Order: sequence, then C-alpha cells, then structure tokens
Amino acid sequence: MMKTTKCPNCGQEITEEWMSKKDYCSNCGAKLAVENEKLVVVAAEETKQKPTKLWYLAPILFSVIGGVIGYMAVADRDKKMAMLLLVIGVVLTIIGVAAGLLILSNR
Ligand SMILES: [Zn+2]
Repeated sequence: MMKTTKCPNCGQEITEEWMSKKDYCSNCGAKLAVENEKLVVVAAEETKQKPTKLWYLAPILFSVIGGVIGYMAVADRDKKMAMLLLVIGVVLTIIGVAAGLLILSNR
C-alpha cells in the first residue's frame, strides 16, 4: 500500500515514492525535508545574512593582518568563517616566513 503524507505548506497529498526521489512538493514546489518521520518545510532563505566570500581574499592578500581584520568583520555573523580567516592568515604567514628562510639558506 502506498503511503501518502500531506505537504505542510499547501496541504496537497504527497506519496512516499515521490519524496524518496524528490525533496520538494509536487504541487506547490516548497522545499521539504523529513524530520522525525514528519514532513517539514525547509526555510528557503536564511534570516541571518552570511558575510561575502570575498573576505577570504583578506588573509590571502594581507596574511595575518588581513586575517585579523576579516575575523573582526565577520565574527558576529559567522564564527566558523571568522576562525577560518584567522587560520588562513596565520598559515600563510608561516609558509611565507618558511619560504623566505629556505631561500635565504640556499644562498
Ligand atoms: Zn505543497
């Protein structure tokens, strides 16, 4: 027997077969997910706007200083990205110093 479930957005019945292949309502197109064996509407838009990916250029261009500036700029919106910017800045600085020492020692 085919089990059906109702779309939480429009109330249209959706078969389990459809949901096993697609992750949106066949009637209204709302993005859906199964949570605790119930269909839920997945929020299409995030309420908190993520900082632009361009911030990744800061530690690449200005190494550790860019990393710190990037960290302070995005920390309140995206802690994970802020930490990543800091790490990129530090790592690039270490690589830069190591490369510099290697070039000097080869002279
Ligand atoms: Zn629907």
